[in-house]
Amino acid sequence: MGKVCPDHGEFEVYLWPDAERYRWFSDFAFPTVAREPQTDRKEDCPHDCGLCPGHKRRITLPEIEVTWRCNLDCPVCFMFDGDRPPDPSLEQVRRMFETIRAYDGPDVPVQITGGEPTVKADLPEILRIGRETGFEVMELNTNGLAIGWDIECLRNFAEAGLTNVYLQFDGLDPEATRKLRGRDVLATKMQAIENCREEGIPVILAVTIVQGVNETEIGEIVRFAMHNLDVIHGVALQPAFVSGRFDVPNPRHLSVGDVARLLSDQSDGRILPSDIWPVGCIHPLCSGSTYLVGEGDNYEPFTRGLDEASYRSNFDETSPQGSVFLDVVSEMSPSGELPQGLPLLIMEYMDAWTMDLERARECNLAVTVMDGTAIPFCVYHLTDIHGKRLYPHGGKGANGRDRH
Ligand code: SF4
Repeated sequence: MGKVCPDHGEFEVYLWPDAERYRWFSDFAFPTVAREPQTDRKEDCPHDCGLCPGHKRRITLPEIEVTWRCNLDCPVCFMFDGDRPPDPSLEQVRRMFETIRAYDGPDVPVQITGGEPTVKADLPEILRIGRETGFEVMELNTNGLAIGWDIECLRNFAEAGLTNVYLQFDGLDPEATRKLRGRDVLATKMQAIENCREEGIPVILAVTIVQGVNETEIGEIVRFAMHNLDVIHGVALQPAFVSGRFDVPNPRHLSVGDVARLLSDQSDGRILPSDIWPVGCIHPLCSGSTYLVGEGDNYEPFTRGLDEASYRSNFDETSPQGSVFLDVVSEMSPSGELPQGLPLLIMEYMDAWTMDLERARECNLAVTVMDGTAIPFCVYHLTDIHGKRLYPHGGKGANGRDRH
């Protein structure tokens, strides 16, 4: 992508490994459904979030940040800017849930995130508030330490309304975990998975991929997931983006196309780059996905036999959760039910280098901040070269502060 800055001149940013697939993805437009705006257009995108009247898609995965504290100090952390405001009060959290319900409806899954949400002693109370507000699906975005150390803690969360865990997972190599988390916490994460298995809580493995650290782990992670489908219900492969803190030298941007190639190399071609298709509920360049039908070492990507017309006709743009392959696979299955398998998602977030406002305007993943407005994820976490955020933690006006 060529860019021009009035102060710094022209520069180019690497996007994808091949132009043909890039164009196929970017042209794969699905119908968009906007939602009622909450803010006016005063400046221009991305300063008017949100959502403002220019935003093209509704939110199908809202997030609530319940703290900016953490029990790790990871060298790679998009949250970090050194400024950790006080946690929102329970009353503020309740208002955020109510705002999401009013604008996005009660059927959206809500992700409880941070910082590290489990450092909050009142997390069960927060989950109960979410349930009282009418949300049936609440996902905990966690590094897994608390729920790996103490199954009782997980049990309390489940009783309060937690439905699934989005587990930060760097692979099965302890060295990769040490490099990305500052210490080797792999055994605790594995115990967290075992505890979730015991409690019947599904886990989605959320993998931060950093070139030179753990991009070689992808194949093993998929294999591990396919052999543990009773507890692992999804793998989200997320190339790291350079927002917040990034203390790993010489990061190279990895796109959906790059990760698709890595998957192909590391699965001996069982998953081909052409098996990865755009996801319909977000801008097509933001996510690629497939569904691996089968289990263990015996599987095939659902998309291998898919054609564009069938995908489009089985895609439901009004699905509350955002129609993804799970819906499409179920619709197309002869039994009408989802066959055993694994959803595989590649999520390519944007940073200051790769920011594309067309993509930002089609984001379906937003952080609901303290004043109830919703800020698309990559815009909310956007930081400049000095680590300064465009939007402060908690949003404009949080704790009496304004935007940086
Ligand atoms: S990212 Fe969306 S909500 Fe934010 S300013 Fe741009 S169009 Fe508006």
